[in-house]
Amino acid sequence: MVVVFAERSDDELFRQALSFARRLEDDQLHAVGIDDAGAYSPDGWAGALAQHVRERPPSAVVAPGSERGNEVLAHAAAQLDLPFAANCVSAAHGDPLTLTRVRWGGSLLEEARVHGSPALLTVAPHAVAADTAGIEVEPIRPAAQAKVRVSERLEALSAGVSLTDADVVVSGGRGVGSAEGFAVIEELAELLGGAVGCSRAVTSAGWRPHTDQVGQTGTRISPSLYIACGISGATQHMAGCRGAKKLLAINPDREASILASADYAVIGDLHEVVPAISAEIRRTRSG
Ligand SMILES: Cc1cc2nc3c(=O)[nH]c(=O)nc-3n(C[C@H](O)[C@H](O)[C@H](O)COP(=O)(O)OP(=O)(O)OC[C@H]3O[C@@H](n4cnc5c(N)ncnc54)[C@H](O)[C@@H]3O)c2cc1C
Repeated sequence: MVVVFAERSDDELFRQALSFARRLEDDQLHAVGIDDAGAYSPDGWAGALAQHVRERPPSAVVAPGSERGNEVLAHAAAQLDLPFAANCVSAAHGDPLTLTRVRWGGSLLEEARVHGSPALLTVAPHAVAADTAGIEVEPIRPAAQAKVRVSERLEALSAGVSLTDADVVVSGGRGVGSAEGFAVIEELAELLGGAVGCSRAVTSAGWRPHTDQVGQTGTRISPSLYIACGISGATQHMAGCRGAKKLLAINPDREASILASADYAVIGDLHEVVPAISAEIRRTRSG
């Protein structure tokens, strides 16, 4: 039996984890989720999962590769003294269990053998198609002796929309040139009801806060549309926006690596192109 840990049962990443687990063991899946999911506690949630694993030992435990999924499984692995592998894209039972996982922001696929049972695995976001069949999730109670409990979560909002939830993200990179240069990015994001993102070059320069950073060491997003302005497309950046349904790149450099991942591209200066898009949106809406 494979246990699938549901951070949020309606979540797309959970359905991807379910699909991954079905490939591992189609006929014996069991999903568990925290009963009172309102109050997040990494060690408390892990304690509940660890207790479940002790009572009914599965062949593997699979969870979404979200921040919480990785954190809870890391705690559970420590509590159970079991191996944990994050960001897996495939796995096959055996002695030892073998798996392939994403490393270095998506630039390396590692094959690994996991000794110890059950193995605790998280699934790399957007690496497998989401399961459509669904499953009933058994509620488990968070451990009472939790050391850490998150009491309040303050989400950084950009034009009233959070980066993770935004359907459209307009992102700026070093090509924007300055903190003030983001005015055109903010304007377009606002017109589209979206959020502003940026690359690490931008946060390193102090032009935007780290909460806006998209990428391996920033936020991982999956909007319907990602507009990357003045961003070269380093693997560490792409690790954060690979889940976008469509990508529009605005860059004067035809050789920029982001163009290889783009669905649409405008070869040009963002300081001309972005205001022109905003002006066209305004013109269309007013007419
Ligand atoms: C461990 C590690 C973790 C990292 N994590 C992240 C991360 O989470 N997120 C992240 O973004 N990076 C991350 N990085 C950094 C990453 O490797 C790149 O350095 C960074 O993404 C580059 O940012 P950029 O594309 O804005 O800048 P650059 O690579 O300098 O690209 C600037 C782009 O702007 C274009 N440009 C210039 N002028 C204009 C103009 N007028 N109009 C339009 N385009 C223009 C240029 O042609 C170029 O393509 C990480 C690196 C490491 C080592």
